[in-house]
Amino acid sequence: MFASVIVDVPSKSVNQVFDYRIPEGMQDIVKVGHRVLVPFGRRTIQGYVMDINDTADFDPARIKPIARTLDIEPVLTEEMIVIAKYLAEYYVDQYISVIETILPAALKANYKKIIRLVSDDREAAQALSSLGFSKEAETRRLTAEQLSVLRPHLKSGALAEETVMSQHTRKKTALGVYSLKVPEPNLGRAKKQVELLERIDMSSEPVLVRDLSEEGYSNAMVNALYKKGLIDKVDVEVERDPYSGRVFEYDRPKVLNEEQQHAYDEITSSMDAETAETFLLHGITGSGKTEVYLQVIQKVLEEGRTAIMLVPEIALTPQMVNRFKMRFGDDVAVLHSALSAGEKYDEWRKIKEGRARVSVGARSSVFAPFEDVGAIIIDEEHETTYKQGDRPMYHAAEVAKFRSRRHRCPLILGTATPSLETYARSEKGVYRRLELTERAGTKVLPEVQIVDMSEEHRTGNTSIISTQLHDAIQDRIEKGEQTVLLLNRRGYSNFQICQSCGHVPMCPNCDISLTYHKSNNSLLCHYCGYESAVSRQCDNCAGTDVTFRGTGTEKVEEILRDMFGTDVVRMDNDTTRRKGMHEKLLNHFERDEIPILLGTQMIAKGLDYPKVTLVGVLNADTMLNLPDFRANEKTFQLLTQVSGRAGRHELSGEVLFQTYNPSHYAIELARHNDYRSFYEKEMAFRRMARYSPFYFHVLFTISSEDVRKCLDATSHIHGTLAGAMSGQSIIVGPSPSPIERINRQHRFQILLKYKREPALLDILTALDEEYHEKYKKEGISLKIDVNPLVI
Ligand code: ADP
Ligand code: ZN
Repeated sequence: MFASVIVDVPSKSVNQVFDYRIPEGMQDIVKVGHRVLVPFGRRTIQGYVMDINDTADFDPARIKPIARTLDIEPVLTEEMIVIAKYLAEYYVDQYISVIETILPAALKANYKKIIRLVSDDREAAQALSSLGFSKEAETRRLTAEQLSVLRPHLKSGALAEETVMSQHTRKKTALGVYSLKVPEPNLGRAKKQVELLERIDMSSEPVLVRDLSEEGYSNAMVNALYKKGLIDKVDVEVERDPYSGRVFEYDRPKVLNEEQQHAYDEITSSMDAETAETFLLHGITGSGKTEVYLQVIQKVLEEGRTAIMLVPEIALTPQMVNRFKMRFGDDVAVLHSALSAGEKYDEWRKIKEGRARVSVGARSSVFAPFEDVGAIIIDEEHETTYKQGDRPMYHAAEVAKFRSRRHRCPLILGTATPSLETYARSEKGVYRRLELTERAGTKVLPEVQIVDMSEEHRTGNTSIISTQLHDAIQDRIEKGEQTVLLLNRRGYSNFQICQSCGHVPMCPNCDISLTYHKSNNSLLCHYCGYESAVSRQCDNCAGTDVTFRGTGTEKVEEILRDMFGTDVVRMDNDTTRRKGMHEKLLNHFERDEIPILLGTQMIAKGLDYPKVTLVGVLNADTMLNLPDFRANEKTFQLLTQVSGRAGRHELSGEVLFQTYNPSHYAIELARHNDYRSFYEKEMAFRRMARYSPFYFHVLFTISSEDVRKCLDATSHIHGTLAGAMSGQSIIVGPSPSPIERINRQHRFQILLKYKREPALLDILTALDEEYHEKYKKEGISLKIDVNPLVI
């Protein structure tokens, strides 16, 4: 028998499967989906069995055998293999990169270079041992000096450098003991040891030594029993549970209101249907969408099936996890980027082994290895985090649709501000739309007012806080209520400028100005992380009249503290970089009743605090100016989301938008919570400019350090496209990308807009192959983004 294996070779990205022989004794063991070790060239590498056949395409005598399997059970289900193939084709990418996205990182092979003794040369052996190694050393860990000691022996061939594979974190174990049940053990008068032995005897499973020590039995006592041959030691797996020690009190289901009940009925009655249905649950902020999800999942569990709940980024909304744990307890597995690789692997196995039936997680948890899925829910479906920025550039909704068809289960897209694409599909009847038009309970949406900042400046207030906002914050402080402020710009000042010559310090690697960060007194590039010290002298004219312009969160925090003399919690990439900081800061804000929470857009989602009665948006326009055709849509979504944080409980809320464009429709319609009008206006613009959802898009980004090569490749790709597309399609560009250089790479882009191009997939595949065979070697990179979210 032969296995078709996809191999994990970092340097050789091929979409090809290789045939291997399954050795006689392994024929009952190796299954489709297994991780295996196979010989490849001179190395042994990791691969995945995609198929098993009686015949091979090659001369069977020359086919090498599989070395061994890496797991007892296959890690990939048949469904995942089908999905991997589908995604690799759809997004023009490599099977292997999709497979390794589907699986938890802990299962990925890790490659490292080592220098190894390959002869019995005495001097080479001595050179190694003089550095403290016996037979091999990892290249990466050697200093330049140590390398120079080894280099002559590498040249002579006594030492060789090889790439070897190692496994990532695996199961975590702790020492356990179990009784050997020796009849009539002789423990004399050691009473405590008798007691300990009885304790171990009574347990049907191995007892962890660390648990015993907590119960007062020392390691010495355990060892005494071991030496007497009464017990034996064994490694016991212990689960890494990021939520261990936390108590979640049961939260009972609420009585649904009429609209919620209607949504629930429609969704649950589609569960028995022959074909899967996709629902758009369009509900204003606080309308009780989450309660609907929870009860739908309850129903799914009662039917003995499983459920997948996707959220944009759990680390940002710890409250969501709490609500799920409070309803479903240990049946919930949580998967997100802030977990360690080991924790993720353990949560993933909880799902795979059927110990959890609900998963709550970010984008990649759409691959949760459940059998029999009964519902898939995507909360805040419009969020861009559902699309991966690197290869494979897949969108979670695409995978969710595929799985829902396969499991014949409903897919629910929930949001207050649907993406235009999704809403348009609901208009056409492709998705069934369910509306929640009122806030749950007796609450109402907050009143929103617009503050015209140009007017504010004319009347003499140049502060970033308008008089109206100032008074509103002051009022909340006096009443003991809380304020949430959004400023979508981190750092202290936006940039530094020389008042004599106008020079602005730029990042040497990227075409972008550096942002001033006061806390470490540095200028920082937000794209590549480049950092430089602040100089009070202009690099260009040596003048000393340098100043800072623009205001970031760091500076506003300072302004607020001065203005109100109160505490402020600031949340942005700088204050939340460390693991667990989101939750810590939010808890601090809630429990210690800090008057003001200031943050970038990470505070716009999911927060639900009873005392928040005021939301202020300091710069409602920043997103309008982005070079992206979705800028208006993003502005509308963000303003609606952040407004939704106010007045969610007994106290009613108020919202202020500060803007220089008070009459812009994205701002004006967000103010009136008028999604429908926004949709119609924006669709008219999209139709005219021939953008999505009227056209599909593919974005090609070509980048290289060498601008000449980059331009050549770009014009070649443009030529290929222009020659192959039908007359109806539009090719925009080539043009420099909005930021022309990032990380020293020059960047050009071509945008393809099309309605129907039957041969498109073949053309894209051919371009990608050409890239792998030719451009990649020349240091040119090509990114093909199918259905891009940012253009
Ligand atoms: P959304 O997900 O649409 O923003 P939530 O599900 O978070 O809304 O609901 C908002 C608030 O209303 C929550 O505090 C929730 O507990 C409460 N709520 C939801 N449904 C009901 C209901 N049927 N009766 C009473 N309160 C409800
Ligand atoms: Zn940079």
